Amino acid sequence: MSYEAILEKALTDSIDKREALILLRKSQDYSRLMDLFKVASRIRDNEVGRVYKIEGFISPITKCTTKPPCRFCRRSTGRDFEPLTTSELELGIKLLAETGLKRVEIGGGTVWSGAGEIVIKAVEICRRIAPHILIRINVGPSLSFNDLVKLKELGVYEVSSNFETMNPQVFKKVKPGDSLESRIKLAKAIDEVGLKLSTTIMVGIGSSYEDYIEHIFWLKENIRNLSRVSITILRPIKGTPMENHPMGSIIEALKLGAVARMVLRKIDLSFGGIANDIRLLPLRVMAGDNREVHLSVMVTKRRWDKPVLSPSEVVVKNINGLWYYNALPLLTRTLKELGMIPETEL
Ligand code: SF4
Repeated sequence: MSYEAILEKALTDSIDKREALILLRKSQDYSRLMDLFKVASRIRDNEVGRVYKIEGFISPITKCTTKPPCRFCRRSTGRDFEPLTTSELELGIKLLAETGLKRVEIGGGTVWSGAGEIVIKAVEICRRIAPHILIRINVGPSLSFNDLVKLKELGVYEVSSNFETMNPQVFKKVKPGDSLESRIKLAKAIDEVGLKLSTTIMVGIGSSYEDYIEHIFWLKENIRNLSRVSITILRPIKGTPMENHPMGSIIEALKLGAVARMVLRKIDLSFGGIANDIRLLPLRVMAGDNREVHLSVMVTKRRWDKPVLSPSEVVVKNINGLWYYNALPLLTRTLKELGMIPETEL
């Protein structure tokens, strides 16, 4: 089947593995890329609409115990941050809720001995202060099956299990202290409990096109409640073992996102890593995405080194030891310029 015929088919039907691979291989040209994006964004419009989901971020509630740390992670610079205290968590949730956000990611590192108690307590605090906010938990394989059952009872919306890659060799190389098996097991448990699964595929760490396609189809075939896929892009961080590794390609990530949209259809599609830059939002939207985190509001222990491009639309301040970043006015304006409907304005 030709490139054009596959795109024609994708408008109405999910494409198969072979077709997805052809699209990745043959889109090495800006004109073909524009055709790919046009179809991916049409599918987004038809399947999930133009409401753009906006997610606040609060972190960390747990301190990662992965040894050695993943080679691309900021932790491998030797710098780490203590988890939020209860009062900091309460303040952070209150600050997030005041912005009018409808969803939040509560994040932290992997605690290999388990972090169910900490996570459940954080969810209870969030439920008490902001009962209307949809919660996504992102703490890696720190949760048992029973923890997930409890989180479902507490009304948690979505839980993350991020693989980055399903190629075991690539995984081991960049995440030597981590376990792909544990992350797959967590993803299956999230699905079995009936929670929604959010997951990531990382571009720039050595996965091949074939790896990407196997990954996307594994998710399609194995996870009934798949709700969000984020294509993250490697940002080499100074002081990590991967600081001299080339940055992940934005073009490759956009292509992969567009193809994922053509296969997985109704999911929320996001981009992460270096794509968490307001200047790249138009490209993301064109490639079929409909959801963000890290572009709107964040409350964290660490100050984010994001450039403040529009001081009248971005607030960065320290509140009682917490870094508060709010770029909601800039994000919503940009979304409206793109013809998208910011979820916060519904
Ligand atoms: S598991 Fe997550 S937080 Fe821990 S080292 Fe790896 S990337 Fe960093």
